[in-house]
Amino acid sequence: MSAKVRLYIDTPLQIGADVTLTEAQSHYLCRVMKLGEGDAFIGFDGVSGEYDITITKVLKKYCQASVGNLLRPMSQSPDIWLLFAPVKKEQTDYIVQKSVELGVRVLQPVITNRTNSEKVRRDRLIAQGIEASEQCRRLDIPKVEDAQPLEKILQNWDSSRKLFYMDETRQGRPVSEAFKNASAPAAILVGPEGGFSDKELTLLRQLNFAYGVTLGPRILRAETAVAAALSCWQALSGDWINYTEQK
Ligand code: SAM
Repeated sequence: MSAKVRLYIDTPLQIGADVTLTEAQSHYLCRVMKLGEGDAFIGFDGVSGEYDITITKVLKKYCQASVGNLLRPMSQSPDIWLLFAPVKKEQTDYIVQKSVELGVRVLQPVITNRTNSEKVRRDRLIAQGIEASEQCRRLDIPKVEDAQPLEKILQNWDSSRKLFYMDETRQGRPVSEAFKNASAPAAILVGPEGGFSDKELTLLRQLNFAYGVTLGPRILRAETAVAAALSCWQALSGDWINYTEQK
């Protein structure tokens, strides 16, 4: 039997309530997945949790549904943010998809001295963040911020959040040391394809909340560095520690 369709519904859900699905969701459920009245899917609202939902009426453009049992109560992803310099479209898509699967709470595009793609479509990142959340069974969806220059972000930084910048010059600490007991709130910063400029590295090295981290002896592409850094952080300080499925 194939897995049930899982959709993010952008309105708070309650057992017994009726919901009208968007045109795109209705199209997906009824035309693409061929579901009809009486069929069930899984819905989550990012606020209260995940529910069994049954389609009650199929109209020309929309369908209506009724919210059934609560399947899983709300839980948030760990308070880890990803700051990334946008790269080419496909690689940026990869960064969003993988970082959402790896449980980031906030996605912050950062314009660095060597960032090539300054045009970041926030709406596109939001849509991809939702799609990845639906697929990976997260109960929350990531917050996507507007792109901002790195210097401005650092000026306004709340120093209670540790900022781990991935330093390809290998002057940082190894992940096994840097991420051990590096619990949330935390953030990971990965540079652009051209790497950080000397000016940026000098600035980062002066900040008392910023910690340089090395990801081993090889230079990774930016999108690989994102997946590697987040995986290591989750394993050493995040929600992979001692995880077992609750029955
Ligand atoms: N152009 C740079 C060079 O050749 O040295 C490489 C930049 S790399 C493609 C993009 C980003 O990934 C870097 O700014 C850094 O944040 C991260 N990165 C890649 N390899 C890394 C490593 N071995 N250690 C730490 N960070 C790394």
